[in-house]
Amino acid sequence: MSLVEVDSIYRAFGNVQAVNGLSFSIDQGQIVGFIGANGAGKTTTMRMMVTLEVPDSGAIRICDMDVLDHPREVRKLIGWMPDHFGGYPNMDVLEYLDFYARAFGLKGKERRRQLDDILAFTDLDVLAERPCDRLSKGQTQRLCLGRALLSDPEILVLDEPAAGLDPKARIEFKNLVRLLADRGKTLFISSHILSELGEMCNHLLFIDQGRQVHQGTADSLKYHKAEGGLTVRMR
Ligand code: ATP
Repeated sequence: MSLVEVDSIYRAFGNVQAVNGLSFSIDQGQIVGFIGANGAGKTTTMRMMVTLEVPDSGAIRICDMDVLDHPREVRKLIGWMPDHFGGYPNMDVLEYLDFYARAFGLKGKERRRQLDDILAFTDLDVLAERPCDRLSKGQTQRLCLGRALLSDPEILVLDEPAAGLDPKARIEFKNLVRLLADRGKTLFISSHILSELGEMCNHLLFIDQGRQVHQGTADSLKYHKAEGGLTVRMR
């Protein structure tokens, strides 16, 4: 049994077929990249995995639980990092994480310990009192990752986490991803930039118009591009 099994999912918005029969199985500990152009269906797929969107048909199973039948259990297993901050800019870093820790039901010493761990892990401990709207892009992305980690999930689903990061911030983020994988977490990361995902992921799913057209390593994708079968933005 795979940790995440996606079986022929479809999702349309009006006459736009955002996801068009995607299937894949992912084992624990993989760092999976969703690569595809703008509008390929990456975000919609991720939102269905984290129960924010419902497939028109098909099934998603996590730890052998259908996500629609067990949304609460599944949400505990998954940390979600959307592609926008969506925060409360007038809060400082610690207040922001604490707000979400309380929302996740963490209490007392456990909450304090989890906040300390996450501040240290994301290197935001020295910025704990800085207002969220005074953070750099790289610091903001690390804060969003920290929020996704609050419930200590098995699986992390990160939508375009490296978009707009400068090379240094990208390396810092990539190192956090590696550390999480070393801790046995399974990660899903989206981007439309192959080199960005190639650096972080050990398995890529190339999505085009809601369909999976290839899966493999970054090198195998480059090979397929050379064959002329696929188009993907390289840099
Ligand atoms: P991007 O890289 O630009 O975020 P993406 O690969 O994540 O793109 P999606 O955001 O999943 O792609 O969008 C897939 C298609 O579905 C697009 O054509 C998009 O406009 C459409 N779409 C997504 N969400 C909605 C919605 N709530 N209402 C209408 N159309 C939507």
